[in-house]
Amino acid sequence: RAKRAGRQRFEIFDAATNQHAIQVLDMEADIRHGIADRRFHPWFQPIVRMVDRGLVGYEALMRWNHETRGWLAPAAFLDVAEENGSIEAIDWQVWESACRQVQRLPDALYVTINVSARYFRKDDFDQRLLSMIRGTGIAPSRIRIEITEGALMHNPESVITMLARLRAESVQAAVDDFGTGYSSLSYVHRFPLRSLKIDRSFVSELGQQGDAGSRAVIRSILTLAHSLGLEAVAEGVETELQAEALIAMGCGLGQGYLFAKPAPLAE
Ligand code: C2E
Ligand code: MG
Ligand code: MG
Ligand code: MG
Repeated sequence: RAKRAGRQRFEIFDAATNQHAIQVLDMEADIRHGIADRRFHPWFQPIVRMVDRGLVGYEALMRWNHETRGWLAPAAFLDVAEENGSIEAIDWQVWESACRQVQRLPDALYVTINVSARYFRKDDFDQRLLSMIRGTGIAPSRIRIEITEGALMHNPESVITMLARLRAESVQAAVDDFGTGYSSLSYVHRFPLRSLKIDRSFVSELGQQGDAGSRAVIRSILTLAHSLGLEAVAEGVETELQAEALIAMGCGLGQGYLFAKPAPLAE
C-alpha cells in the first residue's frame, strides 16, 4: 500500500512537472512566432513634474500583442524569454519601435528604455544601441536607459565603462527600482548616472499607517540623489496623498497610475 501511494504521489508530481514543461515549450514557440510577426511593441507611461503635471518624458514598457490572448504585460512572458534568451530579439524590436515613435514627440521629451544586465556583458552594446538610435533618425540624447540596481552591481567595472561610453554619446542612464538592492549605496557615486527611480514598494506605503520606514528610505534616497546631482523619480504613484507627500519631501518627478497608465503612444 505504501509503495502504491508513493508511486501515485510520484505520478502526480510527474504529471505536474510535465504540464509545466509543456507550457514552457508552448510559450517558447509562441514567443518565436511573436518575434517573427513583430508583435512586441512599446507602450508609454508619462513621467511628470508632480506639482503641475508637466510632461518630461515617457518610459517605454514592452507589451506583446498576442494573436489569441490580446495585449500581454511582461509578467506573462518575461521569465521564459529571459531564460531562453529570446528577450534579446524582443528588446531590440521594442527599443527600435520606441525610438521611431520618439520622432512624433516634441523635442524636449525623452523616452527611457529598460535594459537588462545581460547587455553589459557585451562589449559592442553601446555601438549597437547607438547605430540603432541613429538609424531611426533621432538624437541619442532623447533616449535614456533604465538599469536595475542588480545589473549595476553585476560587474561594476564593465558597467561603469559602458555607461561612460554611452554618456559620451549623450545617452544617459537611470537606476530602476532603486532601494531594493543591497550594496548600491556604497557604489552608486561611482557610476555615471542621470537619475534614480525610487522603487514603487516605498511609494505605495506612503500615507498608510506605519509608513515611517518608507519615508526614511525615500528621504535618504532623495538626499543621496541631490548630493550626487542626480534627478529622482518616484515610481508607482497612485494617490494624491502619495504625490503630495513626495513633493513635500523634495521629490519633483513622478510616474504612476495617478498620472496615467502605460498605453500606446497615440492614447
Ligand atoms: P519597471 O521597469 O520597474 O516598470 C514599472 C512597472 O510598474 C511597469 O510594469 C508599470 O506598468 C508598472 N506601474 C507603473 N505605474 C504603476 C502604479 O502606479 N502602480 C502599479 N501597481 N504599477 C505601476 P510592466 O509594464 O508590467 O513592466 C514590468 C517590468 O518588466 C518592468 O519593471 C521592467 O523591469 C520589465 N520591462 C518592461 N519593459 C521592458 C523591456 O522593453 N525590456 C526589458 N528587458 N524589460 C522590460
Ligand atoms: Mg523601468
Ligand atoms: Mg521600476
Ligand atoms: Mg521593476
